[in-house]
Amino acid sequence: MTVRHCPNPECPYRAEHGIPAEYRSDVTNCSDCGSELAEGKGCFDAEDLRSSKPLEILCGRSSFTVKDLGKAAGDPVVLQDAPGAISVPVIQLVTGAVIIAVSFYYIHERVFAAVIPALVGFVIFYMGFNHFKHRDRREHQVRLHLRGFSCQIGDKTVAVPFEDIEMASLSERQVRAKGMPIGVFHDLVLSCQSKVYTLSSFESYGGLQPRETDRFVLWAKKVVESVKIRNE
Ligand SMILES: [Zn+2]
Repeated sequence: MTVRHCPNPECPYRAEHGIPAEYRSDVTNCSDCGSELAEGKGCFDAEDLRSSKPLEILCGRSSFTVKDLGKAAGDPVVLQDAPGAISVPVIQLVTGAVIIAVSFYYIHERVFAAVIPALVGFVIFYMGFNHFKHRDRREHQVRLHLRGFSCQIGDKTVAVPFEDIEMASLSERQVRAKGMPIGVFHDLVLSCQSKVYTLSSFESYGGLQPRETDRFVLWAKKVVESVKIRNE
């Protein structure tokens, strides 16, 4: 079912509830402020956010290329990830290396039974190495263009024209580690071909990487603004 919403930023309903008033598609004017209604929901709900997909799946679905987006309007911005805890591959690599080192010490001391733990050490070390190799450590880079934005994920590039974006909004969510707030994720949420996608960049409260995230927030604001202008 299609819906309409009140686009008036000063609407009393929006002031009270924080979201635009929603109407059935056969209503033409807002009952709170009288403004002419716009098509669509006007904001994302919790279900949209839960079902949000990585932008990468637009690869190959869109017929647009970066060339279609026109001249680049600014430098690429690298998306920042939240710092993770010590990962399983690192633990495996270190444990494996320690077992190998200790076993070789005993082999050197002519305790030949130490060959067995040495082999175990090699297996653990190899598992860690394998995990490490196949981890998704691809950098995400976004860049503004005249008629859209591009997102580079590893060696893939997704071109998203503003005209394909139905709605875009920027929000924040706090990140906690062991109950302590450690920073915020800035999320650019957009709907495109009726699916919802999220691009996020992390800002640490410790101020370790604020510069690149500041640039992401500026970039995201420009995307939201450009989509708004296009849909007016
Ligand atoms: Zn209204």
